[in-house]
Amino acid sequence: MRIASLMIGALAFAASASAQPAPPPPKLIVAISVDQLSSDLFDEYRPMLQGGFAKLGRGIVFPHAYQGHAASETCPGHSTILTGTHPARNGIIANVWYDLTQTRSDKAVYCAEDERVAGTSSSAYTVSPWHLKVPTLGEYMKRQWPASRTVAVAGKDRAAVMMTGQRPDQRWYWNGKTFATDLKGGATPQTVVSARTAIANLVAQPQAALAPPALCAEKATVVPVAGGGQPVGAGRFERAAGDLTLFRASPAFDGATLALAAGLVREMQLGKGAAPDLLAVGLSATDYVGHRYGTKGQEMCLQMLSLDRDLGDFLAFLDSEVGDYAVVLTADHGGKDIPERERAAGVAGAARVDPSLAASNVGKALAARFGLPGSLLYGSNFGDVYVDRSLAMGQRARVLAAALATYRAHPQVAAVFTNEQLARTAMPTATPDKWSLIERARASFDTRRSGDFVVLLKRDITPIADTKGGYVSTHGSVWDYDRRVPIIFWRPGTPAQTIDLPVQTVDILPSVAAMLGLPLAADSIDGKCLAQAPGAACPTR
Ligand SMILES: [Zn+2]
Repeated sequence: MRIASLMIGALAFAASASAQPAPPPPKLIVAISVDQLSSDLFDEYRPMLQGGFAKLGRGIVFPHAYQGHAASETCPGHSTILTGTHPARNGIIANVWYDLTQTRSDKAVYCAEDERVAGTSSSAYTVSPWHLKVPTLGEYMKRQWPASRTVAVAGKDRAAVMMTGQRPDQRWYWNGKTFATDLKGGATPQTVVSARTAIANLVAQPQAALAPPALCAEKATVVPVAGGGQPVGAGRFERAAGDLTLFRASPAFDGATLALAAGLVREMQLGKGAAPDLLAVGLSATDYVGHRYGTKGQEMCLQMLSLDRDLGDFLAFLDSEVGDYAVVLTADHGGKDIPERERAAGVAGAARVDPSLAASNVGKALAARFGLPGSLLYGSNFGDVYVDRSLAMGQRARVLAAALATYRAHPQVAAVFTNEQLARTAMPTATPDKWSLIERARASFDTRRSGDFVVLLKRDITPIADTKGGYVSTHGSVWDYDRRVPIIFWRPGTPAQTIDLPVQTVDILPSVAAMLGLPLAADSIDGKCLAQAPGAACPTR
């Protein structure tokens, strides 16, 4: 079950290093993203966790930091963490956007693909960092120290790609079946070969139900889900042999990711070279568990406890293997529970989205009204919406006006902003807790990639109507349950401090750079150096 301990547990662990005052710059930066770890989830479980989270919790903790932008999705979220930039600058405005000018029949574009490769689509794609317009920490480190190495291991390709950008030394992500890479040439590391075999053997075995501790068992109440999906709340992660979907949405998935990361640290001797190295780790199981079961049941409890243990094993391994390293841990976005359980808990406005809000449905209704063929609008049931470009100018203006009026009149819609409105809006400069809705949308806006308008749903509306596919809960909204995430900086011997300030994930890059003594051009990033980061010598201006 706990593949991390299975694979790295055999290694000899030294006792935790004791305090080392005034350390030199760390030799290894370990940047960990826990997909969908909201501030709310972190606050709820922090007092109960005794493993890796407890250890990191004795560092510098900002429990309520921000992914400030509106599109609180995985790809934009990971794009901010190690670039110091908002999606408006780095170009990663969503997981998927539309390019109606492209020649292939699929007009959707996946954030981490290269749609110029012939024969690809947004679902059958070639993994690539080419949409990311700015450098990542690893690239800055290599410019300063050519011997520096960058490695990414993640449960999702977009997490690995957005945290390491162009030309990392190793980049491995789960492709639905095994760990794969987009990098060409070079031998496959031995640890990847053995991890693939160990994981394939694990998945091939049936998994018995986990035995929940009392803390989790008391959350085991079965809750019916609207939209045709299965009830949730009392799951224990049992699965049949070979079930890759349930493996990915289980604690074992993060264990596998951390085991591979540990293997690469040892095989490549990260943190022991002539220059500091970077290891970026994307832990995706919390997100898959959240989507499948929500955040308030026994399932998420089991996931949090397991992740805490696996992180503890991983950090103990780094203590003995590397010794001198620094960790920054955060999340790509937050999340919330299923509306059915939220309503029972007193959140009166919690509801699933009206399916008529899907861009294709609004578009079809408009096509019928104007006597036009097709569906006229491209998009999801919230976020960026694109108007068909084949319409004549006058027709297009009428369709756009009618679409805006339709969305703005809907009781589940909080606001609709046009491309022109966003282009006229300045990037916000206040702290992100103070940003207006249009400022949140502005931080997600790219003139060329964004839609003709963006639809923001009201608070507590879950944008999943049909739950038959297995997803019952999600994120992506402009509201703080999806925008607030923890940021933790940790080095051996750092005095514990919890700081309740609305700092941002774009502040991580300049802060880590200051820990490393790495110069950055201030006008190339959106974040601020946090003087509280351990050993950070922030530039004075
Ligand atoms: Zn997600």
